[in-house]
Amino acid sequence: VNILAIESSCDETSAAVIADGKILSNIIANQSVHEQYGGVVPELASRAHQENIVPVVDAALKKAGMVPADLNAIAFTQSPGLIGSLLVGSCFAKSMALALDVPLIAVHHMQAHVLANFIEDPKPAFPFLCLTVSGGHTQIVLCESPLQMRVIGETTDDAAGEAFDKSAKLLGLPYPGGPLIDKYAKEGDPFKFKFPEPQIPGLNFSFSGLKTAILYFLQDNRAKQADFVEANLRDICASIQHRIVTILLNKLVKASQETGVREISIAGGVSANSGLRQGLKEYGEKHQWNVYIPKFEYCTDNAAMIAMTAHYKYLAGAFSPLDTIPSARAAFE
Ligand code: ATP
Ligand code: MG
Ligand code: FE
Repeated sequence: VNILAIESSCDETSAAVIADGKILSNIIANQSVHEQYGGVVPELASRAHQENIVPVVDAALKKAGMVPADLNAIAFTQSPGLIGSLLVGSCFAKSMALALDVPLIAVHHMQAHVLANFIEDPKPAFPFLCLTVSGGHTQIVLCESPLQMRVIGETTDDAAGEAFDKSAKLLGLPYPGGPLIDKYAKEGDPFKFKFPEPQIPGLNFSFSGLKTAILYFLQDNRAKQADFVEANLRDICASIQHRIVTILLNKLVKASQETGVREISIAGGVSANSGLRQGLKEYGEKHQWNVYIPKFEYCTDNAAMIAMTAHYKYLAGAFSPLDTIPSARAAFE
């Protein structure tokens, strides 16, 4: 079974081909147009998807050594995401499914981030917990089977990726700042500055207090020393990263204790963070977890994870009618 999958939920246009559960291609076009605005501009994202989608799909088919007639189904990201961006991918996928007379498969983007863990070996055994940390989401998901998953904890305000990006912005770093904080943190002291850990009940998260704490910390120190940020950038980044990572990992410990599950994975763009990857390994050794981290290219937005989810949906016969519409926000089905 050959499936073409399209991802266009935010600012990456991506297409992938999967054959019997094996990824043959995963082409990603990043949109640089947003950098100058310090965040993704929805209208510009939609336009860039329109420009990119045909060449990206062509490249994915070519790399997989296939022509459209080889495809047995077309999959696309249905939700969540920017509606104008989702519409480009969904219209393209529907047109292709109609033209080829093959089934259409609608995929939930956050479910796909979790299933990125199944693209390569070793794969987590069921049930497992997945900490999904991305630009718009922070969730702890309990997965019983590929298509049976439940959110057992999530952020009550900012996402972990937003916490990274907003902290970076306060430091005067360009968007998206997450990868830059990671880069500077590698050469800094994570214990130099202390930021508070929010006390949020249960398995939920909060990052807005941290953002405020960083804002006041920078204001106070800049008042005393004008070049405080420049002089301490590496230590500040390392300290911020350390706090975000420990907030995430401490909740994961709680989730593991409450569910008794020791198969632990991470997913989403922030799982590219080297502090989180390292921290997960350390916590894993301490708490006797089996830990799983997808390859870097499958952590940030990509169509391979959409294709992997579509593979399981195809096996389950979970197809969607051609009048299916995307939605900006939607829970797991
Ligand atoms: P969602 O999946 O919730 O709709 P998204 O698709 O925009 O959001 P992803 O592409 O999965 O999110 O992840 C992007 C986020 O990951 C950004 O906030 C970015 O700063 C962050 N990120 C990427 N690499 C790193 C890194 N090395 N360290 C910290 N953050 C990172
Ligand atoms: Mg993105
Ligand atoms: Fe994403």
